[in-house]
Amino acid sequence: MAEALHHFIGGRIVAGTSGRTSEVFNPATGEVKAKVDLASAAELDSAVQTAKAAFPGWAATAPLQRARIMFRFKELLEANKAKLAELIGSEHGKVLGDAAGEVTRGIEVVEFACGIPQLLKGEFNENVGTGVDAYSVRQPLGVVAGITPFNFPAMVPMWMFPVALACGNAFILKPSERDPSAPLYLAELLKQAGLPDGVFNVVNGDKEAVDAILAHPDIEAVSFVGSTPIAEYVYRTGTSTNKRVQALGGAKNHMIVMPDADMDQATDALMGAAYGSAGERCMAISVAVAVGDAGDKLMERLEPRVRGLKIGAYTDAEAEMGPLVTRQHYEKVKGYVDLGVQEGAKLVVDGRDFRMQGYENGYFIGGCLFDEVKPEMRIYKEEIFGPVLAVMRSGSYEDALDLVNAHEFGNGTAIFTRDGDAARNFAQRARIGMVGINVPIPVPMAFHSFGGWKRSLFGDHHMHGPEGVRFYTRLKAVTTRWPTGIRSGAEFVMPTMK
Ligand code: NAD
Repeated sequence: MAEALHHFIGGRIVAGTSGRTSEVFNPATGEVKAKVDLASAAELDSAVQTAKAAFPGWAATAPLQRARIMFRFKELLEANKAKLAELIGSEHGKVLGDAAGEVTRGIEVVEFACGIPQLLKGEFNENVGTGVDAYSVRQPLGVVAGITPFNFPAMVPMWMFPVALACGNAFILKPSERDPSAPLYLAELLKQAGLPDGVFNVVNGDKEAVDAILAHPDIEAVSFVGSTPIAEYVYRTGTSTNKRVQALGGAKNHMIVMPDADMDQATDALMGAAYGSAGERCMAISVAVAVGDAGDKLMERLEPRVRGLKIGAYTDAEAEMGPLVTRQHYEKVKGYVDLGVQEGAKLVVDGRDFRMQGYENGYFIGGCLFDEVKPEMRIYKEEIFGPVLAVMRSGSYEDALDLVNAHEFGNGTAIFTRDGDAARNFAQRARIGMVGINVPIPVPMAFHSFGGWKRSLFGDHHMHGPEGVRFYTRLKAVTTRWPTGIRSGAEFVMPTMK
C-alpha cells in the first residue's frame, strides 16, 4: 500500500481536498512508495491565511527567542539525520552517505540562522543633526514562500526557511512533488523544536500550487530553485505581482584542467563532481575543458574510473552513485546520450545498457563519458542532469575561459592548476557566480551566499548567508528628535542639517 502524504498547515497534518495526487517512486525499485496530495489554489490560500495569522506574534518574538528555537531545531536535525537520509534516499535515490551530507549542509544554514540577533543588528548615528539621531533596522516581510526542486529535498528548503524564520517571517514551503517526505518531516521537527503553529507550513503540489503562490496578494516574497525555464517564469510572474523574487535555475558547470595540474587530483575531483548523486546536482561538473596536453592524460585516467563506478541502491554503503529520480528523467538522460552520438561526439564510456542486478525496474544508468564535444552540440549547450561528463579539448587557457564565459549558464566553475597567476586571472574574469580554485564543487558555506550568474539566477539576491538576511527583511530608516531638540516655528524649505 502506497503511503498517503498530505500537507502540513497550522502545526498539523492536513489531508488534501483537491482530489488530485501524484505518485512518489522509490527510484531503486521503481515501486510507487507514496501518493502525495496536490494542492488547489483554495488550499494554498488557507495555508497563507494560517501563516498570515501567525506572523505578527512571530515577528514580535525576540530574535534571541527565535534563535533558541533554531538551536533546538539543529539538535533535532542532528539526532534524526539518519531518518532524514533514509527519507531522501528512498524517494530521490541518492546513496545514504550523500543524503546525510545534504542534511549536514542544511544544518549549517540553521547554525548560521542561530546568530540572528547579531545578524539583525542595525546601524545608529547619534547627532545626525543637532538633537537628532538616526538608526536603520531590518524588519521581516510577512508571509514568504519557497518552491524547491527534487534534487536536494532537505538542503534546498534549508537554504531558505531557517534564515526566513529567524528573521521573523512566516513561511510556506512548496517542495518538489517527487520527494516530499523529507520536507514534511522537517516541518514536524520544527514543531518539536517549539516553533509556533502556522509559522511554517508545507503545501504539496505542482504547477497549480506554484501559480497560486505567484498570484497570491498576501505572499510578499518567493524563493525558487529549479530549472531555468521555470525559474524565469517564476521570476517574471512573481515580480509582475510586485513580489520580491529570487529564482535560481539550471547549470552547465565547466572545470578547466590546465596542463600543469596534478592529473590524479583532477581526475578524482572530476569523478566525484560529475558522477556523485548521479550528476543530479546543480553544482555538478558536466564539462571538463582540458587545455593543451592535459586532454590525453585526463582521458586515460578517467575512462577506467568511469567504467568502474560503483552503482547501487541508496542503501548500498559501497555505492558511489544511485539511480536517476524517475523513469521519465532516465529516458531524458538516455536520450541525451543518444543525441551526443548522433551529433558526432565520441562516446568513450556508454552506460546506457547498465542493468542493476536485483533492481531491474529501478532507474539506473551507468556513467557515460564523451570526448571531443564541440560548442555547437546540444549535449554541450543544454543541461542533462545525469551521470554524463563531456570532455572538450582547448588549445589555450584563453579559449577555455571564452567557453566558460560564452555559456548561457553561470552557476559554478572550477580551475585545476598549480599556477597562482592563472588561478587569480580565472577568479577575476570568469562570468560565473561561484568559482573553485582546485575545488571542484565550490558550494559556499552557509555564512557566505549561494547563487549563479547569467541564466542560472533571476533576481538580485543569492541564497542564505548575508544575502539571505537582506532578501527576507526590509530596511527601515528612523530619524528621531525629542522635545528639547525641536526648534520652534514651521520650516517650509527642504530640511538640512543645522
Ligand atoms: P523543476 O524546475 O522541474 O521543478 C522545480 C519546482 O518547480 C518544483 O517544486 C516543481 O513542482 C515546480 N514546477 C515544475 N514545473 C512547473 C511549472 N510548469 N510551473 C510552475 N512550477 C513548476 O526542477 P527539478 O527537476 O525539480 O530540479 C532540477 C533542476 O533544478 C535542474 O535544472 C537544476 O540545475 C536545478 N537546480 C538549481 C539549483 C541552483 O542552485 N541553481 C539547485 C538545485 C537544483
